[in-house]
Amino acid sequence: MKRALLSLATTAVFASSALAQSQAEQDRYDALVTHYQSATIVGEPSLSPCTLSENAAGYCLNITVVAAPADHITGPYCPLNISDTAEAGGKWFVDGKVIDVDGEFIANLSEIYQDDIWQMFDPETGDVFVRNNEIGCIVAGDPTNATGQPNNICVDCSLGFIGETVTNTYQIPLSPVPRETSESDIRQGVGLAFNGVKVEGPAPLELILGGHTLGPFDDCGGHINPSEGYHYHGIMDGCGARVAAAIDGHAAQLGVALDGFDLYEQLDQDGTEPADLDACRGHSVAGLGYHYHVSDTATNQILPCLTGQTACTQLNEDGSCDTSPRGGRPGGPPPGADQ
Ligand SMILES: [Zn+2]
Ligand SMILES: [Zn+2]
Repeated sequence: MKRALLSLATTAVFASSALAQSQAEQDRYDALVTHYQSATIVGEPSLSPCTLSENAAGYCLNITVVAAPADHITGPYCPLNISDTAEAGGKWFVDGKVIDVDGEFIANLSEIYQDDIWQMFDPETGDVFVRNNEIGCIVAGDPTNATGQPNNICVDCSLGFIGETVTNTYQIPLSPVPRETSESDIRQGVGLAFNGVKVEGPAPLELILGGHTLGPFDDCGGHINPSEGYHYHGIMDGCGARVAAAIDGHAAQLGVALDGFDLYEQLDQDGTEPADLDACRGHSVAGLGYHYHVSDTATNQILPCLTGQTACTQLNEDGSCDTSPRGGRPGGPPPGADQ
């Protein structure tokens, strides 16, 4: 009897060690947990087996974070009057450029977009038609315009009105596995910044503009909706934690892509972009391995695609993977606005 028990125990130990993560994966996990101390972590991160998007088996970092930057302010988004300067508003992307959303921009929308329906301010007072405070967040999470908002509103959902209640859970592969198909789904975002902010896919500007609406980004390239919290559509200098690269002269790291490859700033320290980036803006460098460089902010596309298999960006309460795109879209109306 005693011998049988011992044998069982030995078998169990052997089985679990055969399935365990490698030392490299454990080291990767430890390093990521250290880097993500810049975020507001909910509970304790953990390391567990995970199944990747093309069914590869691996090990993942599981981490839940408050969806707000722990290391920079957020907002403002919308100026309140057409006389306001750039300090009163955020940013928008127009014709491949990052534009200040100041009073003058609001005043000139019909000219900028060559469309007379734009009229986002009271012609008598110059006051901008803003949806802010609680209603701003309701509108930001109202992609079908169930609340019947009119055209020509500037949507401003501030952290104070979603509090620290919005959290996101991520699974990040510790040993990235290349995809076999060329298509990657970036609807759930492309990465997680070290400060806990989701690095999002493109904002659907044409849909938002089609409703004569603005959902400006703040000066850090982020904005808020009530389901995803604060998220980036562009990576701006001076916004959030960075980790120096392991080799001299290379761009600094700002987070990790959802396929587990590292995510670096656009430019190396000499101010140039690496010349050998692939279609997903990745390349391999001795000492760093394969990694990405984010796009220029004005492109509204932080990364065009991911080369590796992803795990899960959002877990159900039972720990299972929820692969459905999440609702809630700043930009408010029209239907199918921002994400
Ligand atoms: Zn590089
Ligand atoms: Zn967004």
